[in-house]
Amino acid sequence: MWTSTGSPVTAGSGCERTGVPVIWLGPLQWDGRPAPVYSCKPCLDRLKARALAYFMQRRPVAV
Ligand SMILES: [Zn+2]
Repeated sequence: MWTSTGSPVTAGSGCERTGVPVIWLGPLQWDGRPAPVYSCKPCLDRLKARALAYFMQRRPVAV
């Protein structure tokens, strides 16, 4: 999953770090075109926390 160090393309992730292990998050749709989004570990943790907060807010009603 984690790619080796290098200069990852970090479209949309806000991550400016280079030379750190990065993980592919998925495609970012921009202007009708997909761009790959990579994130390093600290950024991923931050995104994960945000996603969790989002899920907590929007917990679906149990069926
Ligand atoms: Zn980062």
